Amino acid sequence: MNTAVEKLKEILHNSDNIVFFGGAGVSTESGIPDFRSADGLYNEEYAYPPETILSHSFFKNHTEEFYRFYRSKMLYPDAKPNDAHKALAELEKRKKIKAVITQNVDGLHTDAGSVNVLELHGSALRNICMSCNACYKLDKIINTDGIPLCLCGGVIKPDVVLYEEGLDSTVMEKAVKAICDADVLIVGGTSLNVYPAAGLITHYRGNKLVLINKSETPYDRHADLIIRENIGSALGEAVRALS
Ligand code: ZN
Repeated sequence: MNTAVEKLKEILHNSDNIVFFGGAGVSTESGIPDFRSADGLYNEEYAYPPETILSHSFFKNHTEEFYRFYRSKMLYPDAKPNDAHKALAELEKRKKIKAVITQNVDGLHTDAGSVNVLELHGSALRNICMSCNACYKLDKIINTDGIPLCLCGGVIKPDVVLYEEGLDSTVMEKAVKAICDADVLIVGGTSLNVYPAAGLITHYRGNKLVLINKSETPYDRHADLIIRENIGSALGEAVRALS
């Protein structure tokens, strides 16, 4: 075990008030790419950048084209939790982690067994009729073509936060409170450049900030521990080493 992971193990060992905040990098090891970093790849196939397609106004005005992109680039129904998801679920089981806050919409933390998961950007596993609020599972989106319609005839929309849309205020309040109350904050798989990640962690008042990310972040100088390796192997190794 290298020194950084050894330090992480000590931090995990000594606290039972940990909060984890994660971004797209947590799920890349499950085979779900970060569409932001893959931007260029879509140029030939789509006339708009992903940020435009995944916006509220685009959904409203070009619903069918939204779903063409969404089905082929945003949905990974066969993805399985990786070592990072599993380690975090194990830490919650051991009553060390109080909350997992995620920007991902893939549901993999819950799949891995985490219970207190705050999904800032919603979940692709929930889909809601815009007319009658009926709720549909992911297979309703996967097993239909074109615009998925409710039994009532209304358009079904994924329960994910699109660009131009606000975050769910209840989830956001819970996330702020969890971060405010945490002794240890572990941030992983996010460059902390994108709202709301950057804003949220300013609420942290504890004294052990751990950053696990392959590239630099604007918060590196505030961190007590920086780990530059795969989040799955770092967290997995540290949790396995806890007796
Ligand atoms: Zn309906």
